[in-house]
Amino acid sequence: MPHYRYLVVGGGMTAASALSGIREADSAGTAGVICAEPHPPYDRPPLSKQLWKGTPVETIWRKGGDLGADLYLGRSARGLDLKEKRVTDDRGTAYTFERLLLATGGTPRRLAFGGDEIIYFRTIDDYRRLRSLVDSGRRFAVIGGGFIGSEIAAALALNGKQVVMLFPGAGVGSRAFPPGLSRFLTEYYRQRGVEVLAGEVATGLAPRSGGAVVETKSGRRLDVDGVVAGIGIEPNVGLAHAAGLQVENGIVVDEMLRTADPDVFAAGDVAAFYNPALGARLRVEHEDNANVMGRQAGRNMAGVDAPYHHLPFFYSDLFDLAYEAVGDLDPRLLVVEDWKDPYREGVVYYLRGGRVRGVLLWNVWDQVDAARALIAEPGPFSPGDLTGRLPG
Ligand SMILES: Cc1cc2nc3c(=O)[nH]c(=O)nc-3n(C[C@H](O)[C@H](O)[C@H](O)COP(=O)(O)OP(=O)(O)OC[C@H]3O[C@@H](n4cnc5c(N)ncnc54)[C@H](O)[C@@H]3O)c2cc1C
Repeated sequence: MPHYRYLVVGGGMTAASALSGIREADSAGTAGVICAEPHPPYDRPPLSKQLWKGTPVETIWRKGGDLGADLYLGRSARGLDLKEKRVTDDRGTAYTFERLLLATGGTPRRLAFGGDEIIYFRTIDDYRRLRSLVDSGRRFAVIGGGFIGSEIAAALALNGKQVVMLFPGAGVGSRAFPPGLSRFLTEYYRQRGVEVLAGEVATGLAPRSGGAVVETKSGRRLDVDGVVAGIGIEPNVGLAHAAGLQVENGIVVDEMLRTADPDVFAAGDVAAFYNPALGARLRVEHEDNANVMGRQAGRNMAGVDAPYHHLPFFYSDLFDLAYEAVGDLDPRLLVVEDWKDPYREGVVYYLRGGRVRGVLLWNVWDQVDAARALIAEPGPFSPGDLTGRLPG
């Protein structure tokens, strides 16, 4: 039975960062990683961005071979016994540990129809599958208008494909951006050849040879060569839940990233942590959180014991537009828009109760730390206080 000082379940970006964190504090302790995917850790963001702009696939792999961990790839952890400090995988192999990290991330939500005809875009294998369809196909449907849907639609259009994008919201990114910006973005997509069906819902899918027909609520039938969906993820909490750990929209951890069991940690997309600046428990599905929280979890597993107070930032590329953002981008909050050049360059502030809860830096760079500091300030702020507050 393999035994490790440090055992990690999950082999994504959080796991890779955790291994680095462990090695910063402990160069000798044995480490093992159990990962359901048959690949060593890699960066996911390029799958919907740079790889469609000519960057080679080889660039996505994370360092890991030199971190002294045994990788158990293509294996899924199925059981966690906290008392015996033992994890069992889907082949029946049992692993014992002194310290465990749950870095199980999330699984894409699926539609009630379509089965495996639909690519729920998350992994390198999803990328490869879509790539091979793109080699032969002409027209693609993208279901979802959030982060993944908008990036994949842009990537396919940039590769000369006809793209029809459909989602129930009012416009591209409408769950994060104020209405004017979302309208601009929707028009921007249309100008670049994407057929945007806002307020439209996919209701069914009929496979055909070499493609499929997507049926919609309003009665459209979209005949396409491939279908991609990005409709959010569910955190992979099953293992933690079955072991009796606290789960509330994610595995609940304290500021040291420990669960209620002092030898079991959780981090990344799956972890629900308290952030002092926002005064709330968060679960963040973004790269900066995976990397910084993963590293901190690794360091803490190795005895550093430093709190995780980091407020993660996130970013996206949409054709030649790009942004960075911090905090809660909820357009239902009081929104203050400070444009230097409308919808091309500016800062959007999201306020609640006189405090800044989120900052969108739209084609504005090097202001992430200033945005974090603003969110940590007690205020109270009125809209007038914010105009010109961060250089746009
Ligand atoms: C296409 C794409 C583009 C993105 N672009 C951006 C971006 O531009 N900006 C940004 O900030 N963020 C972006 N993200 C989000 C970012 O990639 C995630 O936040 C990050 O990958 C989370 O890492 P994680 O390791 O916590 O979880 P995951 O990436 O979900 O990795 C978890 C791993 O654990 C494995 N696993 C799960 N359960 C088990 C089990 N029981 N046993 C063994 N293994 C298990 C899974 O198979 C998976 O390999 C993007 C994500 C995707 C998919």
